[in-house]
Amino acid sequence: MAPGSSEGRLPNSASRDTVELRKATMAQERDPLIEKFNEKEKAEEDIYFARRDRELIAKLREVRDEGQRRHIRELAYMRCPDCGARLKRATHHGVTIEECPAGHGMWMSEDELHALAKRERDSWIARYLYRPRL
Ligand SMILES: [Zn+2]
Repeated sequence: MAPGSSEGRLPNSASRDTVELRKATMAQERDPLIEKFNEKEKAEEDIYFARRDRELIAKLREVRDEGQRRHIRELAYMRCPDCGARLKRATHHGVTIEECPAGHGMWMSEDELHALAKRERDSWIARYLYRPRL
């Protein structure tokens, strides 16, 4: 054998042995129990973060929905459901009502309706509201 060729082969086989030894050591370090524990921990983390994300998204959606509800209430407040015109306040026979300026309807609160019905005992409103009790 030529000295050069044996010198050339020696470090190669030595480094191959080192690699094999390292693989064996790593294989020994891979404890299936520890791996299972790590997997379980990772799964629990995933569940925790998924739940936290869901809760954050739900909160954001709640805030957005509440903002939209408030906006819609502000837009629809005191407006005719038919044409969207602002309702006019008017007083008829001492009872205050809200009415559409285009004549689509009249609105009154429950208290206003009862006030009218009590005063007009023979009216259809009184019969509608109080007939069972009269
Ligand atoms: Zn209207």
